[in-house]
Amino acid sequence: MDTLQIIQTLREELNLHNYNYYVLDKPTLSDYEFDMKLKELQDLENKHPEFFDADSPTQRVGGAITKNFETIAHEHRMYSLDNSYSKEDLIDWENRIQKVLGNVPLEYTCELKYDGASISITYENGKLVRAVTRGDGLQGDDVTNNIRTIKSIPLKLKGEGYPSKFDIRGEIILPLAGFEKMNQELIEIGETPYSNPRNTASGSLKLQDSAEVAKRPLDCLLYFLIGANLPFDSQFEGLEKARSWGFKAPVEAKLAKSLDEVFEFIEYWDVHRHDLPYETDGVVIKVNDFHHQEELGYTAKSPRWAIAYKFKAEQVSTKLKSISYQVGRTGSITPVANLEPVQLAGTIVKRASLHNADQIEKLDIRIHDTVFVEKGGEIIPKIIAVDLSKRPENSKPTEYITHCPECETELIRGEGEANHYCPNYYGCPPQIIGRIQHYISRKAMDIEGLGGETVALLYNNGLVHNYADLYKLTVEDLLPLERMAQKSAENLVKGVENSKNIPFESVLFALGIRFVGETVAKKLAKHYKNIDALQQATLMDLILVDEIGERIAQSVIDFFENDENREIIKRLKSYGVQFEIIEKINPNATDKLSGKTFVVSGVFSTFSRDELKKAIEDNGGKIGSSISAKTDFVVAGDNMGPAKLEKANKLNISIISEDQFISMLNES
Ligand code: AMP
Ligand code: ZN
Repeated sequence: MDTLQIIQTLREELNLHNYNYYVLDKPTLSDYEFDMKLKELQDLENKHPEFFDADSPTQRVGGAITKNFETIAHEHRMYSLDNSYSKEDLIDWENRIQKVLGNVPLEYTCELKYDGASISITYENGKLVRAVTRGDGLQGDDVTNNIRTIKSIPLKLKGEGYPSKFDIRGEIILPLAGFEKMNQELIEIGETPYSNPRNTASGSLKLQDSAEVAKRPLDCLLYFLIGANLPFDSQFEGLEKARSWGFKAPVEAKLAKSLDEVFEFIEYWDVHRHDLPYETDGVVIKVNDFHHQEELGYTAKSPRWAIAYKFKAEQVSTKLKSISYQVGRTGSITPVANLEPVQLAGTIVKRASLHNADQIEKLDIRIHDTVFVEKGGEIIPKIIAVDLSKRPENSKPTEYITHCPECETELIRGEGEANHYCPNYYGCPPQIIGRIQHYISRKAMDIEGLGGETVALLYNNGLVHNYADLYKLTVEDLLPLERMAQKSAENLVKGVENSKNIPFESVLFALGIRFVGETVAKKLAKHYKNIDALQQATLMDLILVDEIGERIAQSVIDFFENDENREIIKRLKSYGVQFEIIEKINPNATDKLSGKTFVVSGVFSTFSRDELKKAIEDNGGKIGSSISAKTDFVVAGDNMGPAKLEKANKLNISIISEDQFISMLNES
């Protein structure tokens, strides 16, 4: 096999795996095997930029930036749906239809109504060419770069018989488990969690950096094809065909031969929707036959041949026993309602989140009130209202706490911020423990042999007061602790020792600076390269770093202004923790790039433009001043001008990213 064949075989294998995993939910490769094959493909593609393919599975990680989303008119309008709330509504609907059609036998396709963001995706000759949001139904935003990163959406179709051009429509959704995980990560860095999966899904489509979208666990369910020459004439067949072309068309869909069968479908899903991995707020019933659909047509707003049936939100009322206040790692206070236990949506509910002081005030929630509790996207249910008719006579408005329940320090609340904070950064136990727990966590210092509970134990026994203290621990210190055997103590010490190899960007994340999550830590590490440079940066310097806003910048400044933080960092340095980036560039001059001419364009994150040029020359390459037929590669950073891009494309010159360039150098 020649290289191109190997590349193509790998692409096919990986595409098939993506399909099995994301569309069918039946993985055929282990994650490890998948990663190895992906890496093999990535390496080959780096070595052979001439075989670049935008549809390669390596491109699913995103990277394309959309500064402004272009407005695109929908070729076929995207309609809304009429709603119904009862069997009677549906019977009325059928009567209206039958008046037009003349009492013919009817079949209905029943589908779930997915609660996400609608999308219309255009395919031409079997390839994804464009994806547009619903917008106002007539025109929406071009979000193609972002949509291409969602792995259940095929970039190339399978099977045969698809029309040369058509649109397919569906819903971009965020499954509940993924949503919870994203929120957990936000809470960990002191950010406000997202309010629900639907808004998060639609917000994701409008992110500028498609690499960020790629990281979100988005999914897409597609249920409606539109275009000329569709090779089927009913909704249900359309779903089957869509499936055969590789689309994730909902498997829950069912063909009903009568309204009674529609009712059965509704009753079944009204109960079983809670077992689904994502939210659904109803059922959509569609007249199956396209000839009937045509005859029925549309109102100004929606098709006459389809209707949504909305489930009743699951709600119960119960008594609020008390409110407790939790203190998070960053000191933020979260009020939690303790409820009289009550059955709701298949689980027993004892607690509900109250978010913050404003929420309590807005709803005027008081202890001993009877409250309505509803289950939305979150695992923890919400209080949505108070049953005022049941309020006890002597009830008094809730007074929000003014002092920390853990350390009694007076709470503060920043201007425009929703949450109160305990400012006792170094003295408030849950903050101290939480910070160390974050430090050792998997995405941070990944310290094996040390868990969250042990951290609390170490703190409560006076062995650690901050994360730097971890590096002083000895086996002898640990042995007297409860349930600490020799072996575990040794593992703990070894785990701490090993963390000295963790790269700077993870160390920066581990420090637990408020608002500095994984991505921001990476950006800052790449930009400043070492902690000293970061520490010396002014507010203005920081804001000038791509994607760092004033809030993050101020938080970084505050962190380094604190004497104790600086002291701790000094200690960590002395223990050998990584506080600078290990340059990825090959420092030894080679002749790897000899005979090749490069043009460098745009802004880079790992190198300055001069460093890049130096690396090219050190390794035998030549620098061209402008793109011409003599150019072999364009190394493109952010903000490369469109004219240059066009020229490079016209001349068929390989465009490579900074990372691809680095891999090129690091190849043996
Ligand atoms: P509404 O926004 O309430 O008018 O409902 C119409 C929207 O429901 C459509 O724009 C779709 O985005 C969404 N929807 C979710 N699931 C389906 C489905 N199975 N069939 C049609 N539309 C659906
Ligand atoms: Zn406190």
